[in-house]
Amino acid sequence: MAKIRLLDEDTINKIAAGEVIERPASVVKELVENSIDANAGRVLIEVKDGGKGFIKITDDGCGMGAEDLTLAFQKHATSKIRDAGDLERISTLGFRGEALASIASVSRSVEVRTKTRDSLSGTYLRLENGKIAETKETGCPVGTSITVWDLFYNVPARRKHLKGAEAELVHITDIITELAIIHFDIAFDLFTGKRTLFKSAKSDSWDDVLLRLFGLKALQGMAALQAEGRGWSISGVVGDALNLRSSPDRIFIFVNGRAVSSKAIATALRDAYRNIIPLGKSPMAVISLEISPELVDVNVHPAKREIRLMHEDEISSVLFQRVAEALSDHAKPVQAMPASSGELGEQSLADPGTFGTIAQSCEQSTLPIEMTEMAPAEAMPPNKERPKLKILGQILKLYIVAVSEQGLVLVDQHAAAERIRFERLTKLYQSRSIRQELAEPIAIELSPSEKIMISSWQETLEDIGFEFSPFGGNTYSVRAVPALGRRLESAEAVHDILRDLFLRGKVGPDSTNRDDILKLLACRGSIKSGKELTIAEMNRLLQDLGECDNPLTCPHGRPVMVVIDQNQLERLFGRR
Ligand code: ADP
Ligand code: MG
Repeated sequence: MAKIRLLDEDTINKIAAGEVIERPASVVKELVENSIDANAGRVLIEVKDGGKGFIKITDDGCGMGAEDLTLAFQKHATSKIRDAGDLERISTLGFRGEALASIASVSRSVEVRTKTRDSLSGTYLRLENGKIAETKETGCPVGTSITVWDLFYNVPARRKHLKGAEAELVHITDIITELAIIHFDIAFDLFTGKRTLFKSAKSDSWDDVLLRLFGLKALQGMAALQAEGRGWSISGVVGDALNLRSSPDRIFIFVNGRAVSSKAIATALRDAYRNIIPLGKSPMAVISLEISPELVDVNVHPAKREIRLMHEDEISSVLFQRVAEALSDHAKPVQAMPASSGELGEQSLADPGTFGTIAQSCEQSTLPIEMTEMAPAEAMPPNKERPKLKILGQILKLYIVAVSEQGLVLVDQHAAAERIRFERLTKLYQSRSIRQELAEPIAIELSPSEKIMISSWQETLEDIGFEFSPFGGNTYSVRAVPALGRRLESAEAVHDILRDLFLRGKVGPDSTNRDDILKLLACRGSIKSGKELTIAEMNRLLQDLGECDNPLTCPHGRPVMVVIDQNQLERLFGRR
């Protein structure tokens, strides 16, 4: 690597400023990107306590000479660009010369050992609170090893915002996964204590990493695609309509080797899948755009997640076409290596149409109740004395319209269904009969970060009725699920529930309050808004609701029904 220099004022001012070190994963990202820029063939990442204790990155890249090493920790010191003109053609992952300085300033101490190929000895450097505390000659292999101790120990505000060690590990694993897909020619090893969280070998294509990530079954259904235009080219793989996710967490978009969120590319992809997959579902896909550096601006976002692309329309429309072709033509399946764990168990096919994520179905039912003066029905008499409702019909595919002696009654069908399921689940849980054995075990494939989650959630998941065990590789075999009825009996549905538990809401694996978890479960699979109901179905729903202890609010506290009584009607019609 060329010499490190301090950037001039003008260049500094043109650089998108901003704090890039938000959490341990940001440190990992910056340091590993430096290793990649240094042409490393192998990068080792070791973390303790989710990266909060220490983060150690070791590479076999070009290393730094003694003089460069001290410069590297100054703000705006970089070997990757010289002047503002170079900002127009960035070919490295880094260019701001800020990461090492920022990392050193927010951690208790940083230690570096580094050696270049042509020097006989290496250099050791220790910084305390961002200031150089020790430097000496040392013996070490070619490459660089950096250890960051006690991140944010002097920035309590940011330390407080960090999640538990397991959650931070998930962020770190996601970062390494992304980097390993696109830098498949580098071997990555991520571990904490004795646990390996991610491992990839040097390879000449991304297929090996994708196999680990997507699993054999999904990868076999994926099609490869290529596209080209003026100054750019795309290679990618796109998944079929049988292997879907409830969130776009398996869509990876890279531009010039950098993981980015590009709205244009994501939209082109989504459009190509429209009408092929159900609403609310996301495919698995990897899209890698290589574009001449002057056609892309990576200097718009401090963490470089967002970029500005030229020829965006051309790229989108060609990409859209190629994805659509790839989906209709499965003649070019991705070459997949056989999984080491052997054939996977038969997976029952999901029933994709009936599920959305919890967040979606809950959001759908949160339509504001516009007539605010209509208070939710008040105190409810005990079950037996509850007045019978006569159903008139359904409106907006969401509200059941009925009459009672009190007046007009409107019931939110999703909120009602959720309340019913919540009370049932709570009773099953309390009577220790929430566990429902599956007729056939089902196999689910977890991502590296989900594997971390499942181990920290194990006890809680078993407590609410799940039974699963590792099956080799990324596969888990599920033998029992919470008694949510038949709808949970597919690999996809189980996977969706786990993801919802891991990622949404305030529940944590050690939450002693089971209510929150049962609420999440109740929401899943409940009748949603937007579903047309027959009179019989509505009758059934209201009857079940009548048997609830607390039929007036959904588990999230929103009203299930509102009553418009005679007084309110008279007011509405100006009779009073
Ligand atoms: P940037 O990556 O934006 O240049 P950094 O603060 O991350 O800024 O790094 C400063 C400089 O230190 C880099 O430009 C590079 O020359 C050198 N450097 C950092 N990490 C490594 C590494 N692992 N191997 C070799 N050189 C490195
Ligand atoms: Mg850098």
